[in-house]
Amino acid sequence: MKEEKISIRYFGIKWNSKTDGKGIRTVIYLQGCNQSCPWCHSPHSQPQISPILLNPDYCSRCRYCVNVCNQNVHFIQENKHYTNSEACLSCGNCIEHCNNSQNQNSSLNALYLPTKETTPYELFQKVQPQLSLLKDIGGVTISGGEPMLQHKALNHFLSYCNSHQIHTSVETSGGVPFYYFKSIHKLVKHWLFGIRPVAKEYSKYVANINTVINNISRLSRLTKNITVRVPLIKNILDKPIQIKKIISVMHQNNLSHIELLPFNPYTDHYYKAMGNNFSLQGNCSPDNKNVDTITDLLESENIKTKIIQIK
Ligand code: SF4
Ligand code: SF4
Repeated sequence: MKEEKISIRYFGIKWNSKTDGKGIRTVIYLQGCNQSCPWCHSPHSQPQISPILLNPDYCSRCRYCVNVCNQNVHFIQENKHYTNSEACLSCGNCIEHCNNSQNQNSSLNALYLPTKETTPYELFQKVQPQLSLLKDIGGVTISGGEPMLQHKALNHFLSYCNSHQIHTSVETSGGVPFYYFKSIHKLVKHWLFGIRPVAKEYSKYVANINTVINNISRLSRLTKNITVRVPLIKNILDKPIQIKKIISVMHQNNLSHIELLPFNPYTDHYYKAMGNNFSLQGNCSPDNKNVDTITDLLESENIKTKIIQIK
């Protein structure tokens, strides 16, 4: 497999994370997902290329974008800027014509297309100086989206990390063909593996639970460096019966570490930037008491449990 024929798409890099694996991590978020979880805190990661994101606070309502977009994505009514991001082709034309979107720091721009495409080698070169500093105290974590969908590009990127003795973690939701895992498992030092036995009415949004369980079972025969990760979402994934199912999978596969991620109440930010409403109603954060009950249940089963608060 020649590297130059392969590209890798990502939508963000987080430096110095303490919540995405062991030690201090550089986290690379790969674009594209095969799930459509309505509680996702980066919904723009789901398509193969993100649509345009709008921060109305930096928009002066000049209407240049309205005039240059052939897809009619932008419209301004009563001095408010709206977008129909589903029609966006990510051509970048509106950004080129927007005086308020030329800042190097994209978080200060009115319009932003987060997806970047490069080669695995160029991406490695970009993060390598930081990774050299983290060598003894952390490493790199590949997240998403669903990073396993880009397993071929990941193979190259992880090979560069391995040849520089950089610790590698991959975070996955587990719903991909097992040969994707097989193709890179020797290059991954630690897995963050999602198991989501969600309430029945939400199962259409997530990877098939039997596929996920089958994959984690097969992967755990190759490595025990797997931490299970579970989002806790009120009335969707927070019931003892659901946690018991996860415990059963962990015991069957001799896995002993779990991280619980209570729903992030600030999730609606990117939905707004895409011009959408966050579709889940009410407060999806689990009650603190329930998080304690779940933690007690896991620890009574000798499972080391950590609560991760995503901000
Ligand atoms: S071109 Fe930029 S500043 Fe002008 S309306 Fe569009 S987003 Fe706002
Ligand atoms: S990126 Fe292109 S298609 Fe998307 S809103 Fe801008 S001009 Fe329209």
